[in-house]
Amino acid sequence: MATISRDAKSKEPAAKHVKAVIRTRPTADFAANYIKFDSDLKSTHIHIPRGSDGGFINNQQENWDFKFDSILHNASQEKVFDECALGIVKSVMDGYHGTIMAYGQTGAGKTFTMFVEAEFRTGATENYKHRGLIPRAISHIFKEISERPQMAFTARISYLEIYNESIVDLLISSPESAAAAAAAGEFHSDWNLNVVDDKNGMSYVKGLTMQLANNEEEALNLLFEGETNRSIAQHQLNKISTRSRVESTERVISSKLNLVDLAGSERISKTHTQGLSMKEAMYINKSLTFLEQVIIALSDKRRDHIPYRQSKLTNVLRDSLGGNCNTLMIANIWGVKEHIEETISTLRFATRMMCVANTPSVNIQYDPAAMIKKYEKEIRELKQEL
Ligand code: ADP
Ligand code: MG
Repeated sequence: MATISRDAKSKEPAAKHVKAVIRTRPTADFAANYIKFDSDLKSTHIHIPRGSDGGFINNQQENWDFKFDSILHNASQEKVFDECALGIVKSVMDGYHGTIMAYGQTGAGKTFTMFVEAEFRTGATENYKHRGLIPRAISHIFKEISERPQMAFTARISYLEIYNESIVDLLISSPESAAAAAAAGEFHSDWNLNVVDDKNGMSYVKGLTMQLANNEEEALNLLFEGETNRSIAQHQLNKISTRSRVESTERVISSKLNLVDLAGSERISKTHTQGLSMKEAMYINKSLTFLEQVIIALSDKRRDHIPYRQSKLTNVLRDSLGGNCNTLMIANIWGVKEHIEETISTLRFATRMMCVANTPSVNIQYDPAAMIKKYEKEIRELKQEL
């Protein structure tokens, strides 16, 4: 498969940094008292002054200043999708890979941003507007497909969860046993899937179910099926990947959209880990630690070894981090006083993310037989003209 750049003028695909946007969970006090949003600078700056109550923020430093691609303060689901995600979803329809991931401490709004329960299923308009990014992305993909009748599209959905360093396929028929075994730390090759390279060096999860979805409803049903299958409650780490394939006569454009709801980024010493086994707690912490290590290595341009292979998560996200992909991180923050340290830690991580350079390019696969036919036809036509 040949991967070529869409823009014929530039031979090398242009490097793009990973985008980071901050979304705040609406709270009364924090945003007003502790964060100053710089409205003059198009809402891209966050300023956290040292607390007046004696430096609970950080004793070493007076103030924190951050700059991001965008700050979504009290933003609606529609605004988050339209202003941040839509560009990536559109680029996927044009043949680029795209990844959108939600990062942040537990309770900050990651799942709210990505999914929002099954409520919108009822069709009641007041719930419908709470739809998160995943159902909106699905909706948009099928809308674009219907607007391009001249092209043949195939959309496939896969849905997986990484739990205790096991990749669990949520679209298999009996995931309960898989999840239970994962929880018990047992490994079984049928469901503990591995990440392998395809012949272009792109990573994929071998054996992962890729279900064909013919329309929005079918795609959403697969999503609900996966949700039902997901028996692990709080500390999940999950990921849905929609793969759309665009086909025309002599070329196939194959691109994927990864939508990722990461595990809570809070440190293990804090709360929220009660009821978890030590093993679970360790794995959760580990996978995000490995993600951080990859981001640090990527943002440090002198490093040539990037430790992707240390964990399932970084292996799955390899192309999204420093690879052929348009990537967006939505960093969710929970603006209450007791979470100020987590907030700063999330803002610092999101700042790091923006140092990661990706090289997105259109993924075109030429069918040699169809190409030969096309050129033979052109030669015949030229001969006739002579
Ligand atoms: P996380 O997945 O990061 O642990 P959740 O998405 O479950 O956090 O959010 C925690 C709670 O806060 C939920 O009850 C959710 O509905 C609410 N919430 C989060 N973000 C928002 C938001 N932007 N608007 C309204 N409610 C929100
Ligand atoms: Mg969640």
